Amino acid sequence: MLFPSAPTAAVAALKELLSRPRQIAIVTHFNPDGDAMGSSLGLCAVLRKLGHKSRVVLPNTPPLNLHWMPGYADALAFDKQKEESERSVRESELLFCLDFNKPDRVGGLEDALRANPTKVLIDHHRHPDALAAVIFSDTSASSTSQMVFDIVSALGHADLIDTEAATCLYTGLMTDSGSFRFNSTTPHTLEVAAELMRRQVVPERIHEAIMDDNTEMRLKLLGFALSERLSVYPELRTAMIVLRKADLDRFNYQPGDTEGVVNYGLSIRGIRLAAFIVERPDVVKLSLRSKGALPVNEFLTAHFSGGGHGNAAGGHAKEPLAKVVERFLRELPAFLASHPA
Ligand code: 5GP
Ligand code: MN
Repeated sequence: MLFPSAPTAAVAALKELLSRPRQIAIVTHFNPDGDAMGSSLGLCAVLRKLGHKSRVVLPNTPPLNLHWMPGYADALAFDKQKEESERSVRESELLFCLDFNKPDRVGGLEDALRANPTKVLIDHHRHPDALAAVIFSDTSASSTSQMVFDIVSALGHADLIDTEAATCLYTGLMTDSGSFRFNSTTPHTLEVAAELMRRQVVPERIHEAIMDDNTEMRLKLLGFALSERLSVYPELRTAMIVLRKADLDRFNYQPGDTEGVVNYGLSIRGIRLAAFIVERPDVVKLSLRSKGALPVNEFLTAHFSGGGHGNAAGGHAKEPLAKVVERFLRELPAFLASHPA
């Protein structure tokens, strides 16, 4: 098997960095998702088997449906273990940056991240900042977890990926590829999934742990969002869901509860852009999804300090919710017109 995410020069540089036992921290993005967690925990397990002291540091606590992941119990979270997390990111001999490529994606750990001189970036988002000494950037990879599999294999350590590490990586592959349906899913994605299954991963159990773990309130919030907060603009082929803080409070919002809500908009017949705009405590967050050649990451980079992938991107704004929605609807037509279907 070839390992497209692991170019020879970067692999050689990483091999050199790992040629003696190191103290390592692995950091991922704020609001970690299945791929952020899967790639970080999977890599951490392998590095430990190689004899390094390795720790995953999360900018904040992930949603409950990811707490079962092997190795999570041993990870640090900046919102709970502030000083230890900071110190680990700042002072580790090696800092792996996984599933993000802009320093502001790690929230309160940004200064510590910038201060660490020896960083290794592994990421599949577009337009990476030159923030690390060694950079693995593959925007065609389905997930950072798939990249970690490639890189570990290219280092010659595929045998160190045990059932637990494989379970973590499979979780990342599955969640970031929309259960292997997005167009980022390639033959190689399925080859890596097969390799992980050969390590006794049980896909059904992972799927259940991630998908069938809803609270009643979460489902009711989804129902409310769809029946009361969804607007469709047929002439723009756009669907938009907007949730206010009061809506979230009413349904006892827990982190992760609105994950995936945006996809419902995109499932409406004829829609090519779906937006989800939500009022968070000190920021308004936008999530966009699109079909075909409609690079929503460019729109969000231009107007809402965001980024991500062509068909799935996020951004944020500091204005009040109503102003953000107004500005979104004002900027949108020109963007759509510049990318005719
Ligand atoms: P989501 O809409 O699920 O939050 O994020 C979709 C994609 O866009 C993810 O790959 C995520 O990493 C990226 N993303 C989300 N929010 C931001 C943001 O504020 N800035 C940047 N650069 N990327 C984001
Ligand atoms: Mn990812």
